[in-house]
Amino acid sequence: MFNIAIDGPAGAGKSTIAKTLAKNLGFIYVDTGALYRAVALFMQSRGITTDDTEAVQAALRSADIELRFVDGAQRVYLNGQDVSEDIRTPEVSAAASAFSAIPAVREFLFHLQQSIAAENDCIMDGRDIGTVVLPDADLKIFLTATAEDRAMRRHLQFLEQGIASSYEEVLADQKQRDYQDTHREISPLKAADDAIVVDTTGNEFEQSVSILMNLIKENLK
Ligand code: C5P
Repeated sequence: MFNIAIDGPAGAGKSTIAKTLAKNLGFIYVDTGALYRAVALFMQSRGITTDDTEAVQAALRSADIELRFVDGAQRVYLNGQDVSEDIRTPEVSAAASAFSAIPAVREFLFHLQQSIAAENDCIMDGRDIGTVVLPDADLKIFLTATAEDRAMRRHLQFLEQGIASSYEEVLADQKQRDYQDTHREISPLKAADDAIVVDTTGNEFEQSVSILMNLIKENLK
């Protein structure tokens, strides 16, 4: 199997770029953030908070999270229900970041991510794919951009989807999430030593896709 790991902070363009690349390559695209979001949604629905790690651990036993791929597009199922849209709110983003710092949550999702990669040619994106989940990935990319550039992209994405959004709020939420993700003890967001760092600040979408596609082509040879 050919596995590509793409890590980086929120809003660096990982998912939109990876989706296009996966389509061009005939690979599946695995958005691991969606798994953390599904866990957060599940905990929220049960009124469980991050400070009660024992309750979190116990509740995970009754969480059945599954990724299904329909025409290459990923859908997330939580206990048999498609929650792919429900996990996209700012509340779930913040909760996903908070729950993802709990070791039991990461452990719970670790095997699921590894087994998908073992069975499929894939592009997997997240925060710790190159460092922890797929340390032997065939290619590792760390995608980044300035905080302002990333927040503006997210903001415009929300507006496009008809979701009310303020740039200042998106920037503040994102900074909070980046801080949590890079400072947590377990599997913090960072570039793997052997990752290629790509800064997409100021790039048009197509430019970033073409930079990454060239990197992939070089490595597929
Ligand atoms: O990528 P996305 O923004 O959907 O991720 C939501 C949150 O899930 C991140 O802020 C991060 O805390 C967590 N996450 C993680 N490890 C991953 C993917 C996401 O900790 N591999």
